[in-house]
Amino acid sequence: MSTTYDLTIIGGGPVGMFAAFYAGMRNARVQLLESLPELGGQVQALYPEKLIHDVAGYPGIKGRELVAQLARQMKQFPIDVRLNAAVTDVAGQIGDFMVTTADGQTSKTKAIIIATGNGAFEPRRLAVDNAADFEGRQLFYHIPKVEQFKDQTVLVAGGGDSAIDMALLLEPVAKQVYIMHRRDQFRGMEHSVDLLKASSVIIKTPFLIKKLAETPTGQLGLTMREVRGEAEEQLAVDALVVNYGFIADNKVIRNWHVVPTLTHRLFAVDTEMKTDVPGIAAIGDTVTYPGKLGLIASGFGEAPNAVNQLMMTLYPERRSPLHSTTLFEKQGR
Ligand SMILES: Cc1cc2nc3c(=O)[nH]c(=O)nc-3n(C[C@H](O)[C@H](O)[C@H](O)COP(=O)(O)OP(=O)(O)OC[C@H]3O[C@@H](n4cnc5c(N)ncnc54)[C@H](O)[C@@H]3O)c2cc1C
Repeated sequence: MSTTYDLTIIGGGPVGMFAAFYAGMRNARVQLLESLPELGGQVQALYPEKLIHDVAGYPGIKGRELVAQLARQMKQFPIDVRLNAAVTDVAGQIGDFMVTTADGQTSKTKAIIIATGNGAFEPRRLAVDNAADFEGRQLFYHIPKVEQFKDQTVLVAGGGDSAIDMALLLEPVAKQVYIMHRRDQFRGMEHSVDLLKASSVIIKTPFLIKKLAETPTGQLGLTMREVRGEAEEQLAVDALVVNYGFIADNKVIRNWHVVPTLTHRLFAVDTEMKTDVPGIAAIGDTVTYPGKLGLIASGFGEAPNAVNQLMMTLYPERRSPLHSTTLFEKQGR
């Protein structure tokens, strides 16, 4: 609560990450707040293995690698990154905004860049009545530490690349790993599916989880029902890891005390990425303007505009932006 940031960037997708780097390069005190436990937005959450061909300087780069490069670029500057930090409220005015995150923490900032894409990502939850009772104890949507599953019996539910990655990650640590998918075929890449089939992971398809209950020995009892069939199977596990993808939700933004006007759920911005609230800019997939393209490259172009105009507004006495080499040299890097 003691630091007053120059810029707070809300949303740690590729565009927010690049804006954080650029703000660091402009010598701003900057924090980056992301609702998920990892950075990278849609790229990391939805297509980490896809080859992206239209980012300048890369003839082709996997989503995961692009995010890793952005993280390396950002690390050159002392940027405060907070994960699991969905912004639930923004109040105040330019020079004196207060930002609140879902965990109740507040921070002060002079200006804000909204880079929230389609909204805060949340894992798609298991649609079983009492699922919430087991969440965080025996039911997980992320793997914070693989070691916590040491010598356990774990079932991973899901059929995409990340579910397969999770099963393969757990295999050498856990006692036994199962993977369950509602279709016969996995959606993951062929290579990952081959690795899965060659591993000790037990594959249960096509099954869905119908019920959860605690067993007398304190394990999690799963009732699995065959899809398009009547067969039911029981399995007792120590942990259930659900990987059904993500849903984006921008409802939380509409409840902020100060929120720029939304046009069809997007922020209308001018050529400097200004919204209609002084001191709040917006960039990336969350904005609209004539000719806007929902591409990473467009967002990368918008980030310096937003950072520079806000820094000029906050510090009019400072010289206007220089090229990166000069900025790095000025900071003795
Ligand atoms: C399947 C698919 C393939 C694609 N392929 C390409 C491609 O080949 N080339 C290309 O250029 N583009 C591609 N795109 C589009 C590209 O992914 C987006 O343009 C890009 O991710 C936009 O980045 P962003 O940072 O603006 O938003 P996002 O990537 O959506 O990131 C926004 C981040 O903000 C966080 N957030 C939201 N609300 C809050 C809040 N209240 N508090 C804290 N954090 C919050 C979210 O959790 C998210 O991590 C593709 C998109 C999809 C879905």
